[in-house]
Order: sequence, then C-alpha cells, then structure tokens
Amino acid sequence: MAGALKTEGIVLRTIRYGEADRILHIYTPARGRVGAIAKGVRRARSRFGGRLEPFFRLDLVLYEGRSDLLTVTSAETLAGYPRLREDAAALDGAARACEAVARIFDDGEPNPGVYHLLGNELALLDREPGRAGRANALAFRLKLLLAAGFAPHLAGCAACGEREHLVGFSGAAGGVVCAACEASAFPLDEESHAFMVAALGRPLADAPGASPRALAQAERAILDTLEYHAHLRLRPVAAR
Ligand SMILES: [Zn+2]
Repeated sequence: MAGALKTEGIVLRTIRYGEADRILHIYTPARGRVGAIAKGVRRARSRFGGRLEPFFRLDLVLYEGRSDLLTVTSAETLAGYPRLREDAAALDGAARACEAVARIFDDGEPNPGVYHLLGNELALLDREPGRAGRANALAFRLKLLLAAGFAPHLAGCAACGEREHLVGFSGAAGGVVCAACEASAFPLDEESHAFMVAALGRPLADAPGASPRALAQAERAILDTLEYHAHLRLRPVAAR
C-alpha cells in the first residue's frame, strides 16, 4: 500500500493537531473521503501557505504509509474560492455543504459524482454569493441524496403508485404519498413537491426558489429521508 497518491481533493474540514500540524478531511474523486496530516502547516513559513484550509480545491500528492492517515507532501491550488470567503452566507453555505458530504459519505466510499457536485456548489457560491440560502442548500442536499442512492420517490405515491392527490411525504415510504397512504406521513404542499422535482431535475445554478413554508417542508422531507435510510441527522440549513 505504501506510496504516493496523486489526486485532486476538496478540503472538508481541518483540525489542529499537536504544535504545528493539522489533520484534514479531504474529499477525493477516486477514494472518497480521506484523512491526511499536514506537518508543520501552522508554522509561519510553511511551504503549504494558506492552502490547506476548508473549501480549497487542490491538486495533491499524499503519501500513504501504514497509518490510517495519509501525509500531505505537496498541494497546489486549483480553486481557492476567494469571493465565497468574503460573504457570511456563502461561507455558511459552503461549510454546510462540506459537512453534509462528510456526514453522508464514509471514508473509502468513492463517488466521483459527489466530488463534482461539491465543486459545482463551491464554484456557484463563489461566483454568485447572493445565491447562498435555504433554497440553494436544499437543492444541494437533494442532489446528494440522489448521489447516495436514496433520492426520494417523487413521481407518484411511494407506497401505492397513485399519481394524483399526493398530499404527504413519508421518509419510511421513501417519498411522496397519497391521501390513502399518509399514515406515517406529514403534509406536503404542491409547491414543496414541485420545488423538489425541479431541484433534482435542474443544474444547481438553475435551482428554483420557493416560499419559506415550502422550503421548510422540503427540508423536513430531506431530514426524514436521511434519518430513515442512513440514520443520520444533519444540522438544519439556515432559514434565510
Ligand atoms: Zn398511496
């Protein structure tokens, strides 16, 4: 196993370690989430400069030894997203996007689609920081659910297949449900249903907006889906 791993990666989070080191959680296209240590990175004259920070997209060389943690031996910036860092809402959106990826996808579960989705989200927040907010964050999470293999069923009742009178959402059933099947469901407005369909079907940059009530229902649908299928509870996205 020992050797050099050349890969792109997005820094999800960093943790201070020891006197001058930092442990990084990095999402890579071919390996999924990996842990790596950057030695001496917190010293003023570190050769890594300020690159090993959350949200940086990097070209990396990681040394793989016998430890679970890889060691960062080289890092070049592919994208630093400077505009995103100057906007509080965009910064918060980026942090929540990275947190959602880190929570939903375990170490050693490669998913190149997730890597590209996260890169797209960070690039969007950098290009248009004003897009940050609840609708964007929920569209991103819906696409993550799709990549993880548990996108909610939205085309008809998830329990019986009925295509009309879809009035609720059930995490246990796996999607929208009709009036006859709504026992374990919560009420879902047509607007929320339409928001989820459009958010899943369009590129992130074209994701729709919706009323606060519809977004709150969509968020609950996402949380229930994750809790039921992955036993995960994500932090709610900021209401904005
Ligand atoms: Zn039904």
